[in-house]
Amino acid sequence: MINVVAYQKLRAECDEKKVTLVAVSKTKPAEDILALYHLGHRDFGENYVQELVEKQAALPKDIRWHFMGHLQTNKVKQIVPFVYLVHSVDSEKLLREIDKQAGKMARVISCLLQLHIAQEETKFGMDEAELAAVISRVEKKEYLHLSVNGLMGMASFTDDRNVVKNEFKQLNQLYNQYILSSTITHEPTILSMGMSGDYRSAMEEGSNMIRVGSLLFGVRGNH
Ligand SMILES: *Cc1c(COP(=O)(O)O)cnc(C)c1O
Repeated sequence: MINVVAYQKLRAECDEKKVTLVAVSKTKPAEDILALYHLGHRDFGENYVQELVEKQAALPKDIRWHFMGHLQTNKVKQIVPFVYLVHSVDSEKLLREIDKQAGKMARVISCLLQLHIAQEETKFGMDEAELAAVISRVEKKEYLHLSVNGLMGMASFTDDRNVVKNEFKQLNQLYNQYILSSTITHEPTILSMGMSGDYRSAMEEGSNMIRVGSLLFGVRGNH
């Protein structure tokens, strides 16, 4: 069951602020995705490869599929044929594999580099040194079958709004420094930050793409 009222409200808010809303449908059935699809929604996010591949095969082909989970290199080739944007590139090894597989399929894959900004140890993502190294290799045109369009990050799970805002602020600074002022900038430039619990803070701190699941689809059980 989707929350239509929450969707319409969020949609209006995003349209007004020119923020792209990605509906994160992981663990949710195809009928929930179709319900949003029939309201005109096209951007959906998943974070398990197998689940994404099955949904993509079963659902309308004009859906823009966003991948945002930890991506193992041996699974890259399964999503490269159709994925619209990979939010969760957390290592150079993964970037290289995406480039290689995209080359075989004559595609150019749009990617975001995932930065580790939260306090928790468990969240994936690069630190600033890795980001700088990757950007410099991208600037040397080492990767021909992908574009780095921006950054993605997840804030700490905390009720302390200041902590969350500071993490988003930090990510926005990196975005300005490494993406907006880079010589390899690809349009559109994307700063993907903000989820159900913190999207307002993220938008205040400059996000132009939010990834919202439970607010639209209800809380998830364990996967
Ligand atoms: C699940 C998930 C989301 C959505 O989280 P909600 O709190 O349900 O809005 C956003 N981003 C990523 C990377 C996720 O895995």
